[in-house]
Amino acid sequence: MRVHAIQTGRVQIKQAQIEGRGHGLWRRLQPILSQEWADWSPVYAWAIEHPEGVIVVDTGSNTGLKSLPLWHPYFQFSVRFDIEPEQELGPQLQSRGISARDVKTVVLTHMHIDHDGGVAHFPHSRIIASSEEIASASGISGAILGYLPSRWPKWFDPEPLVWEHSPYGPFKRSARITKAGDIIAVPTPGHTAGHLSVIVSDGDEQIILAGDSSYLESTMLRGAIDGVSANEAMARATLAGVSTLCAMRPTIYLPTHDPKSAERLQERRTVVVPQQTRSIMASSATLAPMHPAVANR
Ligand SMILES: [Zn+2]
Repeated sequence: MRVHAIQTGRVQIKQAQIEGRGHGLWRRLQPILSQEWADWSPVYAWAIEHPEGVIVVDTGSNTGLKSLPLWHPYFQFSVRFDIEPEQELGPQLQSRGISARDVKTVVLTHMHIDHDGGVAHFPHSRIIASSEEIASASGISGAILGYLPSRWPKWFDPEPLVWEHSPYGPFKRSARITKAGDIIAVPTPGHTAGHLSVIVSDGDEQIILAGDSSYLESTMLRGAIDGVSANEAMARATLAGVSTLCAMRPTIYLPTHDPKSAERLQERRTVVVPQQTRSIMASSATLAPMHPAVANR
């Protein structure tokens, strides 16, 4: 198994989106009202070369995002993209010797524009997202929430992921992406209600392809939620779950926009979990086995 980090251009958002300021509606308005832009961030997509076929997790951005509908305040005031045609996911996979036809499955952590932006490259693949996410992103209400359903290819019809009542660490449900069970999805709601993360078991380590569960590893470890999550309690619970998972097994944590994600994957650098999280875990007896292989020991 080999995991590729593929950067599809860059995005610039406000500091108050990366780490939320205040609470409630005030927090959610700051990414629009604040004038403090963060540095440009990468937009990663992931490709996993697996014996069962290539699996792509998120499809990155596309050149069309350099021009966004200006009626939407978020698009007008809060986000900028920088990407050239050869930086889109399709051409970058080609240059690594992976054709779109090799891609058996595409999993979308969520359907924000810089995650579903490259789906047009995969007309022959099975494309999966959570049913909550597909519902949120579709139609006029999806457009109001900041999705771009009007730009989906005509054939785009993602398959709703079916959750199994099969706990994984602190997560009560999971879904197998591979038959072997070494790549699974877990629900990580917060950033969006239907957000999911993909977990790759790779030897003794697990790799979390975290989407926008947090923008940075550091904000995840501090339990600092972003500026756009609608439900603070839900977002906080997800971050706590992820850090618990990181404490249970050596974990390489890879958010889409963390400038260090590719380097951590390359160097196989695992999360250093604070002692406090470890102590909370020690007092909890309800954690499920981490992986079928672990459960069988
Ligand atoms: Zn997002």
